[in-house]
Amino acid sequence: MNEPAANDEELSIFEKSCGYCGARFRVLASHVPYGDHAEQYACPECGKHYQTEAALEPQVQLLRPRADGKTDRYQETMF
Ligand SMILES: [Zn+2]
Repeated sequence: MNEPAANDEELSIFEKSCGYCGARFRVLASHVPYGDHAEQYACPECGKHYQTEAALEPQVQLLRPRADGKTDRYQETMF
């Protein structure tokens, strides 16, 4: 599952705090030359979607659980 990236891929790793629930997580986004496009990833705690430039769907690792004391899921507004 956690296989190392291929040699021609570059991995960018950054940390993000969820603006909805306060969880902190690490995002691993792989890049290939000229292959990046908008990819979505979701907060592992509430499911709120974020977007970044990457070649594949980014992987997310939870660093700190949500801080708002709730258990609800973020509701994407589709309207
Ligand atoms: Zn969240």
